[in-house]
Amino acid sequence: MVVCCYCPDVCRDCFCGAVLSVICEYVVHWSVDGATRNDYRENVSLDRVWNNIRAYHSTGGHSIWQYIIFDYNEDEVDIARQMAKENRMKFFTRKSWRNTSSENKFQSKQSKSIDSDSHFDVYKRAYFGKYETPNIKCRHKIKNEIFIGANGRVWPCCHLYDEHVKDGHKSIRHLLDVQGQEFNSLYTHDLLEILNGEWYQHVLEDSWNKEHDLNLPRCYMACGDHGKREVIKSDKTET
Ligand code: SF4
Repeated sequence: MVVCCYCPDVCRDCFCGAVLSVICEYVVHWSVDGATRNDYRENVSLDRVWNNIRAYHSTGGHSIWQYIIFDYNEDEVDIARQMAKENRMKFFTRKSWRNTSSENKFQSKQSKSIDSDSHFDVYKRAYFGKYETPNIKCRHKIKNEIFIGANGRVWPCCHLYDEHVKDGHKSIRHLLDVQGQEFNSLYTHDLLEILNGEWYQHVLEDSWNKEHDLNLPRCYMACGDHGKREVIKSDKTET
């Protein structure tokens, strides 16, 4: 299993401490988008992130540094790759179609090669159900990934974490109303309990049907159309 950790606080003093012994068996992906700056992750201290990465490594944990190439950090990729090597981490660059959105604070020329459809057009298709079949290619189901957010929530992927923290659409609110407000919180459940729960095991996949009561339009937007817009991770820098 792969654990993507957006959280700057993987340490023994926070919720992650409670699952540290579990996630040490897995491979943690650290999302750090810059060698000397990390503009995309607002209010995150790089020093603190590195303290936590080293703390995690000191327990024997394995890591991948994943690095989204934005216009602001393109020139730091080689420095970051070297830093990863020095810290015994694998290094992957990452391109995400959602970073083509004109609303994004940080732009990424690299992401524009993924899908020529505009972010807005796909958004309208997803949120108004203007598609026939979703043809979902779910990376949680296929690659066994999970995403632990800084708020202690376990989501199948960064997309649903993003949907939750943005709180811009009723679908996630409705999901929490139905499944329970704390259904995926590490403050109230352990990791395996969450992953073995009904939603992860059954409902998520059923909900890809756009008529389903718990349908999350974000699933079609991120992973529909046979995964055309899926995140591209590579251990090579593509230009
Ligand atoms: S957005 Fe939905 S379909 Fe895509 S990886 Fe996440 S849970 Fe799976």
